[in-house]
Amino acid sequence: MSEVFDRLWEGLAPLGRHRTTGGYRRFSWGPADTEVRAWFTEAARARGLDVRTDRNGNLWAWWGGPGAEAVVTGSHLDSVPDGGAYDGPLGVVSALAAVEELRRRGLRPRRPLAVTVFVEEEGARFGVPCLGTRLLTGAITPERAAGLTDAEGTTWAAAMAGAGLDPERIGADPDLLGLVGVFVELHVEQGRALARTESPVGVASAVWPHGRWRLDFTGQADHAGTTRLADRNDPVLPFAETVLAARAAAHANDALATIGKVQVAPNGTNAIPSRVRAWLDARAPSEAALRAVVAHVDAAARRSAADHGVMLATYLESNSPVVHFDRALRDRIAVLAGGEAGPAPVLPTGAGHDAAVLASAVPTAMLFVRNPTGLSHAPDEYVEPADRHAGVAALADVLAELAEAAPAEPA
Ligand SMILES: [Zn+2]
Repeated sequence: MSEVFDRLWEGLAPLGRHRTTGGYRRFSWGPADTEVRAWFTEAARARGLDVRTDRNGNLWAWWGGPGAEAVVTGSHLDSVPDGGAYDGPLGVVSALAAVEELRRRGLRPRRPLAVTVFVEEEGARFGVPCLGTRLLTGAITPERAAGLTDAEGTTWAAAMAGAGLDPERIGADPDLLGLVGVFVELHVEQGRALARTESPVGVASAVWPHGRWRLDFTGQADHAGTTRLADRNDPVLPFAETVLAARAAAHANDALATIGKVQVAPNGTNAIPSRVRAWLDARAPSEAALRAVVAHVDAAARRSAADHGVMLATYLESNSPVVHFDRALRDRIAVLAGGEAGPAPVLPTGAGHDAAVLASAVPTAMLFVRNPTGLSHAPDEYVEPADRHAGVAALADVLAELAEAAPAEPA
């Protein structure tokens, strides 16, 4: 089993990896994305799976063809800029390896089984995370999704068409979703909770509510050498105060707030900028705490923008309510994944996932695989080889049980 995983992993690892940073740049519908989708299609077909692309560009590799009450597992292959190797791919590769492990055990699922790859999970190119599953479940309208643009102004519709898909057909897909009896996503843990335990695998209890907001500070471009301080409308100043306010608000509410993306125009050393566009990512253990953080940041940004004669416009780009995974399923999976060591630990997460979007529509669970440093969304993200293999074994046990796998009839 470990050889199967390792071979798959080695095939995928070089694709979309940046030569100097060592991080991954796999952006939806771009060249690296095309390569990883082709890699998946070939790897799934080599295992006798029937690969289909749904209306929204998600890939489904069926064991025995589509059917009702299906057991579905998978994750994503896109990345954040200079992301790590495991966030997403670990779930996809583990799923393929688990399918092969069931075969090795001589088992055949009695329920249909599918391995999925969901598009634009990170939202790195078009701004809205989990876009593939949001479209599938109808959590975003096709009109809004089609018009989303990347940094170059390319729309989702145009990018999808460029990859040979028909953007006219995107949108909620109740027929396909109706086939899913249960969804399980295996994912690298993006924190250090499991690192403090003896368990290589844990089970998710909930995903914190979270959202993304864009803040546009518009000032007046001018000469850095001749404009008196008193005469400036410098948008960097309220931006800087907003960054600090976000940190303070997160701290005060036991929450998380990050401004990790910023664009300064015109971005010249000797020019006062005309505009700063920044993105706030906020997450909290409760909806109330999240609202408190965002309200505090918004108030601080407005106050500071007014002080500096800068205009401020804010936009909600995405909003994800708290998700509690199916409790009965979670407890059952904790027992299956924990094996002889007893039930796997149950933990919440601040990270969004396709599983959290799908949880609104179907019984859903998540398995987390131990991350020794907790690092994620960075090239140094890591999972020990033994833990990768433990993840595959746990997923295979879970799939065997959920899909009612039984010894295959001799041909
Ligand atoms: Zn992920």
